[in-house]
Amino acid sequence: MTKKIFIGLGLGALTGLILHQWLLNLFPAVQGFLVEGILSVGGEIFLRLLQMLVVPVVFVSLVCGVAGLGDIKKLGRVGGRAVGLFIGTTLVAVTIGLIMAWLIRPGDGFKLQTQSSFTPQQAPSLIETIVQMFPRNPIEAFAQADMLPIILFSLFLGAAISLSGKSGERILSLFSDLNEILMKLVDIVISFSPIGVFCLIAKVFSQQGFEVIVPLGKYFFTVLFALCIHFAFVYSAVLKLFGGLSPLSFIKKFSRVMFFAFSTSSSNATIPVSLETVEKKLGVPNSIASFVIPLGATINMDGTAIMQGVATVFVAQVYGVPLTFYQNIVVIFTATLASIGTAGVPGVGLIMLAMVFQQVGLPVEGIGIIMAVDRFLDMSRTAVNVTGDAVVACVVAKAERQLDEGQYTN
Ligand code: ASP
Repeated sequence: MTKKIFIGLGLGALTGLILHQWLLNLFPAVQGFLVEGILSVGGEIFLRLLQMLVVPVVFVSLVCGVAGLGDIKKLGRVGGRAVGLFIGTTLVAVTIGLIMAWLIRPGDGFKLQTQSSFTPQQAPSLIETIVQMFPRNPIEAFAQADMLPIILFSLFLGAAISLSGKSGERILSLFSDLNEILMKLVDIVISFSPIGVFCLIAKVFSQQGFEVIVPLGKYFFTVLFALCIHFAFVYSAVLKLFGGLSPLSFIKKFSRVMFFAFSTSSSNATIPVSLETVEKKLGVPNSIASFVIPLGATINMDGTAIMQGVATVFVAQVYGVPLTFYQNIVVIFTATLASIGTAGVPGVGLIMLAMVFQQVGLPVEGIGIIMAVDRFLDMSRTAVNVTGDAVVACVVAKAERQLDEGQYTN
């Protein structure tokens, strides 16, 4: 399946490029029929199928995970380890982004041609965010696919089930069966993925040719380079040092999830596939994966943090604003917070960047300059974002002595 998805991705990119370069100019009708019609509909249906799974899969699998945990204290330990690793890797990610941007200096010599327009949205305050994690009405949270309140409700319900004796056991067995069925459903949706991925990628590439990258090439490749370094070195080091695990086995199994993330640009939409892969192929038990993966998809965004670090230095260089050492430290911490606050849906990382700019006194309109290339970067950073979640899930499972290493390496 991984091979098929990869082929779908490659063919999609090729088709999109051909459409963009030649066919759309020669035959404008192709635009309506193929791009807005077939590709758009195919991609949208696939995306909706993935999104359809997110809430039920997270809810059922997390309730199962917590209720089956046996010891609630373990949840605190797993949560503490996971959040610690999430924050640690994100801090490293922004630092890599900053170092790359200072070394490559993508903003030097960049000519601002048009006045860019970007109006920031008001970000919710920290207190508001914390309070809103507790759902007043779980159905409302489900309806809006609001991840943190769903996670919290599922944790409470799972804990209550585990404390409810016989009734709890009956309900847990129902949830376990439901979980099995939902995982089957994930498999069914995955079986459509080569076509879905093809449609999504072909549409993006047909609408956005590579020429948008040229004027912002240095910025674009600096972000991409930093993403590659984080992916290749930091994740390998975390797997090896904290878990004694082979990065190669990880990549072999997990690459298909990265293709999903790349083509959907959404950590949220990727949760079901990521959860299934981490549990069924990398040997992480449901009690850990069901908690770490959705939480990571919501708060752990290393790729986004890298983009935010590079973008800050880039825009500072374009506007000729010097950033002091102290301001760089501020960027590391605010970009970490901004990435935590970024929702796992397309393009939000760029919106949250306003928070970092405001902290260091950069003009928020600067974000408008990099918007043109953000679609491609969003795809790439989302692939890194979801990888970080799975790396942490494996390492935490190993630390809890619950990783099925036979499954991980096979
Ligand atoms: N699209 C990213 C994700 O879903 C978030 C972002 O950086 O915009 O992980």
